[in-house]
Amino acid sequence: MNKPNLLISECLCGVCCRYDGDHNQIDRLEELKDLYNLIPICPEVMGGLSTPRPPAERVGNLVKTENGIDVTEQFQRGAALALQIAIDRKCMRALLKAKSPSCGYGEIYDGTFTRTLVNGIGVTSELLLQHDISIYTEKNVQDLIMQNSDD
Ligand code: SF4
Repeated sequence: MNKPNLLISECLCGVCCRYDGDHNQIDRLEELKDLYNLIPICPEVMGGLSTPRPPAERVGNLVKTENGIDVTEQFQRGAALALQIAIDRKCMRALLKAKSPSCGYGEIYDGTFTRTLVNGIGVTSELLLQHDISIYTEKNVQDLIMQNSDD
């Protein structure tokens, strides 16, 4: 059986690329590997930001650090590179890290750095969605696994 390619946030694979140098490895990684070829991406690192780096949040169409540094350009560059990889590798689905200003989907932090969530989407998730790539987060990995078994 040919496994489909799945774009995945690199921090969900256990890579320490988070802003604070940590990772968010998910429990069901091995199960996912059985069903998909995982294509890891970290848009913030790909966009030119270092690890660790100051936390950033979306403020409208901009992304800024708590000190007001505008990192929108790096976030957009990373999103464009992630999209190109998704297209090149024919990824129809992406499993991305919830709440992130790059990878979040459904809700993100509101730009006040007070851990307040609002309805919203990360810069990369938004671009992928505009190109008809289905977005999942670590909160609904189960749906992704069920979806594959229905293919
Ligand atoms: Fe994880 Fe995405 Fe943030 Fe990279 S940009 S650390 S992949 S949530």
